[in-house]
Amino acid sequence: MIKKKVLVTGGAGFLGSHLCERLLNDGNEVVCLDNYFTGQKQNIVALLKNPYFEMIRHDVTMPFFIEVDEIYNLACPASPIHYQYNAIKTVKTSVMGAINMLGLAKRIKAKILQASTSEVYGDPDVHPQPETYWGHVNPIGTRACYDEGKRAAETLFINYHKQNNVRIKIIRIFNTYGPRMHPNDGRVVSNFIVQALRGQDITIYGDGTQTRSFQYVDDLIGGMILMMNTREDFTGPVNLGNPVEFTIRELAEKVIQLTGSRSKIVWMPLPPDDPTQRQPDITLARKELKWEPEIPLEEGLKKTIEYFTSII
Ligand code: NAD
Ligand code: UDP
Repeated sequence: MIKKKVLVTGGAGFLGSHLCERLLNDGNEVVCLDNYFTGQKQNIVALLKNPYFEMIRHDVTMPFFIEVDEIYNLACPASPIHYQYNAIKTVKTSVMGAINMLGLAKRIKAKILQASTSEVYGDPDVHPQPETYWGHVNPIGTRACYDEGKRAAETLFINYHKQNNVRIKIIRIFNTYGPRMHPNDGRVVSNFIVQALRGQDITIYGDGTQTRSFQYVDDLIGGMILMMNTREDFTGPVNLGNPVEFTIRELAEKVIQLTGSRSKIVWMPLPPDDPTQRQPDITLARKELKWEPEIPLEEGLKKTIEYFTSII
């Protein structure tokens, strides 16, 4: 029996493809929409055999019409090198994409979830970051196209909810990694693993004392679906991330150890506005969703290394 018709924007990307897969496995009908800017057909090719899966090439900055029960809005490049490649387009994707998808949700009375980000907290001066923290974002910096785009999208979501009763959900995703990240994605986990497997230098930006908290993709997807299905008056925003924090140097050393690589660490300049620390406070997710991550870094890294070994 088919449970729900679900639209996933950005469904051919890293997170989107895992989400489509999980939704199909749960018995739903899934429509994946993507313009393939950073996504790949390869990520969803196995799903195309399923008659309840459909792929549509479309850009979310353009209006789109369909009848579905739920929308997961993930379309947006997530890696700094990709979202800075065409900064204006990144803002348009976040803002016009949100307007188009919220307009659709309003018209067809669908429930809609926004994939927001820990970047709404910028370079935080509150640590760890609870949802009540308003953030510390440079509005004209190199990261602003992404950070401010996502902040404006949250504003649109909350106001479509208040003004038009659209049923919304906002999750703030913290650094997530796993199989199907693009080898040239540019984010730290994929960079370090690919460099280690190829025997290339491991590039640490800055002195490597900046921290991140890394969440394995399966944990996030579980939390995302729980959030979509939780009580209607819980709109979020809610943090979804793994609260165990590591320095980037510790991550590099762990990857070298797990791959048995002979790669050397090299030090490169720190990109501007690079947050010095990041750790989610997940008290709210624990309380409202009864959710917390289960996969420790070492276990998740092993699965990710296995994946990259198979494709490189
Ligand atoms: P990704 O780059 O792999 O996926 C993004 C997908 O969106 C790609 O398939 C891309 O082609 C598509 N896309 C981009 N612009 C589009 C447009 N204008 N129209 C249609 N499709 C478009 O990144 P990801 O890691 O899978 O991230 C997915 C979502 O989760 C993003 O919204 C991102 O901001 C959010 N997020 C991810 C992380 C993380 O650590 N992975 C952290 C915080 C937030
Ligand atoms: N980073 C690094 N080497 C790399 C890629 C990233 O040292 O090859 C650093 C980057 O400067 C940042 C951290 O790793 O401090 C996480 O970077 P990523 O791009 O993965 O995500 P974000 O900065 O958006 O959290």
